[in-house]
Amino acid sequence: MTGTVRLRAHAKLNLYLRIHATRPDGFHDLTSVFHAIDLADDVEMAPGAGVTMSMEVPGEIEGTANLAARALASLGAEQLAIDITKRIPVAGGLGGGSADAAAVLLGARDCLDMSMSDDELSELGATIGSDVPFFVRGDGTALVAGRGDRVTGLECPHTFWFVIGVSFSPLATGDVYSRWDELDPAPAPASAEAMIEAVTTGDVAGVGALLYNDLEPAAVALVPGLAARKEALQECGALGALVSGSGPTIFGLAAGPEHAQEIAEAASGLFDRLHVVASSLRSVQRVR
Ligand code: ATP
Repeated sequence: MTGTVRLRAHAKLNLYLRIHATRPDGFHDLTSVFHAIDLADDVEMAPGAGVTMSMEVPGEIEGTANLAARALASLGAEQLAIDITKRIPVAGGLGGGSADAAAVLLGARDCLDMSMSDDELSELGATIGSDVPFFVRGDGTALVAGRGDRVTGLECPHTFWFVIGVSFSPLATGDVYSRWDELDPAPAPASAEAMIEAVTTGDVAGVGALLYNDLEPAAVALVPGLAARKEALQECGALGALVSGSGPTIFGLAAGPEHAQEIAEAASGLFDRLHVVASSLRSVQRVR
């Protein structure tokens, strides 16, 4: 066993999220462009036992319900202790739990010199959560399909800037999907390919115009005030704004770092917390 392994588990935004019909197993297929940002949890692993959490956001994540603990158990690697510094809002639509779980799978493989391939780790990750395979692959930007298990990394050298508007009222992903099931289908949006072209060529205006999330109407229906906050972010100068994943986090796209700072200042008071963040080239990475 090697010594301590430290990883950074990043939050993701869904720049584009299309939900398809419910599958016979009850899950939904999706087509999504995932984009990692530099808001991240720190995950540290060392010989020992148990999971400790240092919460820099509200919420408590109990013992075996922790996706990080479940990831460790799925590997049968209970001889490791995990310490997580939690900065990604819990149940915020930013994929924090899945990112932690993927970091644990990757970190445990290194710590214990396990011989599992990335594909095997990804398959195991899919049993823990639909977003885990994206984080196991580690690409900063990817096209994600199936129920989250088909991940194609995208070359995205451009750094985008965002203002992240956080509300500390968790929104359960399952509730948002149930609401989505009840709503009338939305008209077909522009294709994922258009977003992929914009994001991979650094076309900021294009990305802003093409932001799309099928789950947004469902999240808005469940959280009063969400639509008004999104509109306000746009009025503060964002080039586009969207609910991320199942919400309730809303992000606004900025032209650059100064513009992002200006938007954040204009929008202060609208959210429980605001972050100015940039794209991350990796969704999970090892740090020294
Ligand atoms: P997604 O966008 O992938 O649907 P999310 O960002 O909305 O996810 P998460 O923060 O990943 O939500 O957490 C979803 C649920 O998982 C919450 O109910 C939370 O209590 C639970 N959970 C378990 N372990 C963790 C963890 N390590 N970090 C965050 N949430 C966790």
